[in-house]
Amino acid sequence: MTLPDIEALDAADPLSDLRHRFSLPAGKIYLDGNSLGALPKAAMARVEEVVRKEWGHDLISSWNSNDWINLPVTVGEKIAGLVGAAPGQVISCDTVSINLFKLIVTALQLQEGRRVILTQEDNFPTDLYMTEGVGGLLGQQRCTTRTVPADQLLAAMDTDVALLLLTQVNFRDGRLHDIAAITRAAHAKGILVLWDLAHSAGVVPLELDRWQVDMAVGCGYKFLNGGPGAPGFLYLAEKHQNQVNQPLSGWLGHAEPFAFEPGYRPARGVVRYLGGTPGILGLAALDASLDVFAGLDMNQIRAKSSAMTAVFIDGVRSNPICADCQVLTPLAAERRGSQVSLAHPQAYGVAQALIEAGVVVDFRAPDIVRFGFSPLYNSYRDVAAALQQLLRILAEAEYLQARFATRARVT
Ligand SMILES: *Cc1c(COP(=O)(O)O)cnc(C)c1O
Repeated sequence: MTLPDIEALDAADPLSDLRHRFSLPAGKIYLDGNSLGALPKAAMARVEEVVRKEWGHDLISSWNSNDWINLPVTVGEKIAGLVGAAPGQVISCDTVSINLFKLIVTALQLQEGRRVILTQEDNFPTDLYMTEGVGGLLGQQRCTTRTVPADQLLAAMDTDVALLLLTQVNFRDGRLHDIAAITRAAHAKGILVLWDLAHSAGVVPLELDRWQVDMAVGCGYKFLNGGPGAPGFLYLAEKHQNQVNQPLSGWLGHAEPFAFEPGYRPARGVVRYLGGTPGILGLAALDASLDVFAGLDMNQIRAKSSAMTAVFIDGVRSNPICADCQVLTPLAAERRGSQVSLAHPQAYGVAQALIEAGVVVDFRAPDIVRFGFSPLYNSYRDVAAALQQLLRILAEAEYLQARFATRARVT
């Protein structure tokens, strides 16, 4: 694509003004919003107000006067609007890992007589680790994990399977599952589904109610831009609520926390899935960040995401300089999320050279460079500039330079 083509795409982009709602570092092209979303200006202002006024001045009264106590629910309901969930089914709390634990145990309790959790062998590690943890706790008689390659999932759905646990968009290659179709296939075998939406929420249109999803979890700090370590969320379809207790029976999930009863009596509804006191600073940042989505159409966000990844993929595939790069992400836009993953023998060096050139990407072992595109704050010019830097680094073999060889603890 030529520069005028790129400029025309930006000029016609209905979302182009949204980038002004973010605080973006000058001179950088940020393509890592799939790991840590950029900072919405509203979140900065909100955190400052919560710290100064609500914490500093209003102090303990804020639990009531500033409605801190309901933040997990109010934030959950904002997320519900982005994932196609009617009210009363989403709550924002804890991390994805912890929410997985609570829901995996819930699913096993709902599915008496079935003990297998079916998942994909290249699922995100925490999803695999948490199923291992539940298996270790409950014993293999009650919980065994079956991990298979993606193309064997259907064949592995038998009547021993209690729960199918999948991530919609694979973190390595960006491949996207058809939630509706897979959920239907699982239900036909009496299997419940738990979808991890870490790389979907905020960038892929979701219809959890319509697709009859049983359970889901997702991340607050990726495409929802809630800030480092922002609380995640969980969705539990109404029909599964109030049947079983959740295993992390903390006091804020009690029916009457301030009755201080010695015995646990769970609250009704999804509030039961709260544990201890929520981190208000993190929730407040996420709450303000979600306002960026107010009034936006997820299909419009998805259309821009697909177009940006297409421009990048076409640029890589049409250029002989990129001969050593393999595009791992599906070429069909409807089969990928909002990232492009390139395999390269010197991937770590390529990622580091890009970062030094001001194009912030990340590396995933063993050989992947990930380019994450956020339709809210990335432009088509960003896509073109990232491609240009990639071509330069590959043409000059800059990735071989010694300073790009040392690995940091977080990649
Ligand atoms: C980022 C990510 C997580 C993160 O889990 P946390 O417990 O919130 O750190 C989980 N699952 C997937 C698929 C992810 O991409």
